[in-house]
Amino acid sequence: MIQPLYPAEEARGLWVYLECAAGQLEGVSIELLGRARALADQLGVELTGVLVGWQVAEAARQAIAHGADVVLLAEDERLARYSTQPYTRVVAEAAVAHKPSILLLGATPDGRDVAGRLAVRLRTGLTADCTGLELEPETGLLLGQTTGFGGGVLATIKCPLHRPQMATVRPGIFPRPEPDPARAGRIEALAVTLDPADLEVEVLERVIEPQIDLTRARALVIGGRGVMGDFSLLKQLAAELGAEIAGTRVVVDEGWLGRERQIGQTGIVTRPDLAVVCGASGAMQFTVGIKEAGTIVAINTDPEAPIFEDADYCVVDDFKRVLPPLLDQLRGARPATPARG
Ligand SMILES: Cc1cc2nc3c(=O)[nH]c(=O)nc-3n(C[C@H](O)[C@H](O)[C@H](O)COP(=O)(O)OP(=O)(O)OC[C@H]3O[C@@H](n4cnc5c(N)ncnc54)[C@H](O)[C@@H]3O)c2cc1C
Repeated sequence: MIQPLYPAEEARGLWVYLECAAGQLEGVSIELLGRARALADQLGVELTGVLVGWQVAEAARQAIAHGADVVLLAEDERLARYSTQPYTRVVAEAAVAHKPSILLLGATPDGRDVAGRLAVRLRTGLTADCTGLELEPETGLLLGQTTGFGGGVLATIKCPLHRPQMATVRPGIFPRPEPDPARAGRIEALAVTLDPADLEVEVLERVIEPQIDLTRARALVIGGRGVMGDFSLLKQLAAELGAEIAGTRVVVDEGWLGRERQIGQTGIVTRPDLAVVCGASGAMQFTVGIKEAGTIVAINTDPEAPIFEDADYCVVDDFKRVLPPLLDQLRGARPATPARG
């Protein structure tokens, strides 16, 4: 067994690695703070945010408003842009000095990048892409729920011997807590000592494609293979509901929708108030992306389709027969009455 860097008995507290953009806390960090606050209260420990960057003090204050007791703030002009080596060094050295028991990160491109490095450097385990975080009642150990073996099983993973217990969580899994600007908390500066080798890789440019953020959509109209590429009715329904269009992986692989609209384990995980699912069988890798939706309406010709196990309203029929009268209803129009002969 690889020797832990510090013993479990010495580990204290719950940490969240915070990310920000343009000086503002990212949504996934706010979501993590909300869940971590509840877990920290259960454990009776402090919740600490770790924030690395430059001119990000406002985000530190936001973290306190969203539940952090302490924010460890590493500000340095050389850290203005995310880069693997320097960010890993700063967080790893802070972890070795403070010995957190749990460290949670967003499963974002940067969060995933730094999480893997940190796990190796801190000689601990990492449960990636969790869709749920709980505590084991008897031990207080972190339990991370994630899909495994190619998506075929839902696994619950714990890390009993090594610290910190690390997990990444996809954006959209947990609800965002409301901020309380009056919340008290401390901001503590972290010393930044970088090795010249950390700065050998220079990020010249970051190109972020403007993307639709389905995690913010209140309603979704989702198509599966059953729509056979014809989204015209689904788009009309989306327009009536003020919803966004999304699809299963099959739909995206077929090129019927862009990858940014894929729901599921390898797509977006979201919790809209309403999801209308047409012609999707309900594979676990898909339903993991919407199972927290407020209301799920499923339309499928197959009465045995697994999607009906997750749906609140089940319509066994062809979506092409179901949607036109529904659209008429939504538009307040009566179906045309046949002329009397
Ligand atoms: C590692 C891994 C990761 C994956 N990640 C994802 C992911 O992120 N997202 C995802 O979606 N999938 C993912 N998948 C694929 C997933 O397992 C399924 O294959 C996929 O979700 C099935 O898509 P579907 O429901 O559109 O198609 P199908 O399973 O083919 O279902 C089509 C459904 O349409 C119904 N139907 C047909 N005609 C009509 C009609 N006219 N009206 C109403 N219903 C009709 C049929 O009865 C059927 O139930 C992943 C798989 C693996 C192995």
